[in-house]
Amino acid sequence: MSAFEPTEATSCVQVVVRVRPMNDKEQKGNTLPVVTASTEKKEVTVIRGAGNRQQRTTYNFDDVLTSFSTQQEVFDTTIAPNILDVLEGFECTMFAYGQTGTGKTHTMEGDLSSENNRGVIPRAAHAIFERLKTEQYVESSVSASYLEIYNEELADLLVDDGKDVKLQICEDTRPRGKGIFVHNLSETIVTSAEDVLRLMQKAQERRRVGETKMNKQSSRSHCLFTLKVHSRKKVDDSGSIMECTGKLHLVDLAGSECAKTAGSENAQKERERKNINQSLLTLGRVISALREGHVQRIPYRDSKLTRLLQESLGGKCKTVIIATISPSVLAVDETLSTLNYAQAAHGIQNKPVATSYLKIGDAERKRPESASNAHSTGTS
Ligand code: ADP
Ligand code: MG
Repeated sequence: MSAFEPTEATSCVQVVVRVRPMNDKEQKGNTLPVVTASTEKKEVTVIRGAGNRQQRTTYNFDDVLTSFSTQQEVFDTTIAPNILDVLEGFECTMFAYGQTGTGKTHTMEGDLSSENNRGVIPRAAHAIFERLKTEQYVESSVSASYLEIYNEELADLLVDDGKDVKLQICEDTRPRGKGIFVHNLSETIVTSAEDVLRLMQKAQERRRVGETKMNKQSSRSHCLFTLKVHSRKKVDDSGSIMECTGKLHLVDLAGSECAKTAGSENAQKERERKNINQSLLTLGRVISALREGHVQRIPYRDSKLTRLLQESLGGKCKTVIIATISPSVLAVDETLSTLNYAQAAHGIQNKPVATSYLKIGDAERKRPESASNAHSTGTS
């Protein structure tokens, strides 16, 4: 079976890590990268500390993308194989998780004005419309919605007065009903990938205006872009038609550093941090529970994000998490925290490599391989 053929209706979570290149600040600081990544081995190694306090931790993931990986490679490795599933009526979700400034928005949206640098959302839209052009499809309709979750409040990014419309998560439990949906969220019909680009450009503009007006940072909100694809296609020469509706959710999560950076902060910042904390931790728990098959005890209702994505996270959905990290020593603690989160979703224990040392008196002993984990500092 090729990667583009729809697969069985099972729940599966693919975890991918992307390392971004050093930025100007990191380069000027003349710091050496502390992260090495190998696409071939699907492995990321982080070095923390120096000299005899150095600890090296190696993680394995489903895929690893390096600072040299192109936007096309990122798309091909993550959601591209699921585009056909969406056209077959499945729900697929991709999340970008990581510290602010590590490339979540670059990965999901990218530079909309440059074809080479476009991110996953415009590429997914392009792939869907290309596929729908093939002759087996006799009819199709695609709609887009774009939702922002800020402080557990919902806003529509596709309408000008989106902040003023009261959006509400509802559930339609009738057989063949709508399931979980957002009451009052607009769905805009799109007929080409260019339509999607235009919508996203307007949404970016609205977010910029909102940020200035409300003194908030985009890194504090989750953005959920959804393409709903309804299609009718010929299944054989007898004229039989198959009709289905699939959904693709592409989510740019709030910066994960907020999940723990407490300290002196005003009431607004504290509320933001608590809400982000709650939703990212709940997302992590939901994904771990799904991976371990604890279908009866999945805490979807503990945050708006997971409640909304309840149907797209469990059951017959495909989920991809891309964890974005910086290669710099300046971000090493955040990097380890992101990789640990991703690892928990991946469900595989990390494999620390035995180059961390315990210093006992003047003697230096090589640390036993099994004794260290990503949290330990390797100091005595
Ligand atoms: P986040 O959304 O995680 O806060 P951004 O996507 O805004 O981070 O990225 C921060 C900056 O780094 C942006 O200027 C972005 O263009 C750049 N950047 C991020 N990832 C990459 C990458 N893989 N290649 C080149 N530039 C990148
Ligand atoms: Mg961003």
